[in-house]
Amino acid sequence: MKLKSMTLEEMDALFKELRQPAFRAKQVYTWLHKGVRSYEEMTNLPKDLRAVLEEKYPIYAPVAVRRQESRLDGTRKYLWQLEDGNCVETVLMRYHYGNSVCISSEVGCRMGCAFCASTLGGLVRKLEPHEMLDQVLFTQLDSGLPISHIVLMGIGEPLDNMENVLRFLELVNSKEGMNISLRHISLSTCGLVPKIDELAQKKLQLTLSVSLHAPNDEIRNTIMPVNKAYPVETLLEACRRYYQATSRRISFEYAMINGVNDAPEHAKELLRRLKGLPAHFNLIPLNHVEESPLKPSTKAAVARFQKILEDGGVTATVRRTLGGDIDASCGQLRRKHTKENQ
Ligand code: SAH
Repeated sequence: MKLKSMTLEEMDALFKELRQPAFRAKQVYTWLHKGVRSYEEMTNLPKDLRAVLEEKYPIYAPVAVRRQESRLDGTRKYLWQLEDGNCVETVLMRYHYGNSVCISSEVGCRMGCAFCASTLGGLVRKLEPHEMLDQVLFTQLDSGLPISHIVLMGIGEPLDNMENVLRFLELVNSKEGMNISLRHISLSTCGLVPKIDELAQKKLQLTLSVSLHAPNDEIRNTIMPVNKAYPVETLLEACRRYYQATSRRISFEYAMINGVNDAPEHAKELLRRLKGLPAHFNLIPLNHVEESPLKPSTKAAVARFQKILEDGGVTATVRRTLGGDIDASCGQLRRKHTKENQ
């Protein structure tokens, strides 16, 4: 395991093995979580220890191979090159409450959603914990903007990489590290039911977002293959269990697709199925992906849908689309880059 993926306790144990005083582990952990690019920068470490660590645990820092900044709203997008040459995207969004990063959890994705650019080339590999941490760290360093919020909504399915994601959460939340509160973190899933149940048992204070995108199996089956394994009712039952275990309201994502899932009867059907489950809806006008025939709903259809949900007692916000001029929706930049380099 890479040093940067280790918890402070694991590093303590390692430094004990290396016959180093206990405080060294904390020093190294703190430096790594500040985003140093080499042991040279760890100036309070003896030279010989730096050499030993360099030999055994070389540090890699991701390289920004592309940076884009939206002229519309200051959204920034990074394409980071990882140690093995693969690239992932991170998006920095500026809100009144702080700066939020949307990070990737995998290189590619194997979920196959019909509207999503991230899945077009399939799954290449899962990200290591430190590769998720690095996206937050180096986006903060490169932009000079302090990051207070994180959404796991970039490339990949976080619950398909659960162990590494949980470890990443522990790292980014640690007080010797970035110290970002779990209450400021959202994790989005396409609906892997057994993993939702597993996550519920951890009782974390993060926000679980579920990509619902359809009121019934008939529609959901056509746009999300995962629905064949975990149909809508099964998924909603898992959401109820999640709420019971954590008391955390579920946030549902709903990409509005013209003529597919945006009719008034679809909103009414959602209300019938949710009955009593505390929920919030994020209505996201579909971001058009070149390779897909699906188109975004009209503004009027989105407004009508929102009103029906709100009248039925379910809060619904229309997600402001940020970074529309820089391919900011997940997977689009990586895909362009891969194509150009083929
Ligand atoms: N795999 C996770 C997280 C990554 S996607 C998940 O499925 O939730 C983050 C959100 O963006 C999901 O709700 C996903 O369905 C949505 N999304 C993907 N492509 C989109 C597009 N072209 N337009 C709008 N939303 C999209």
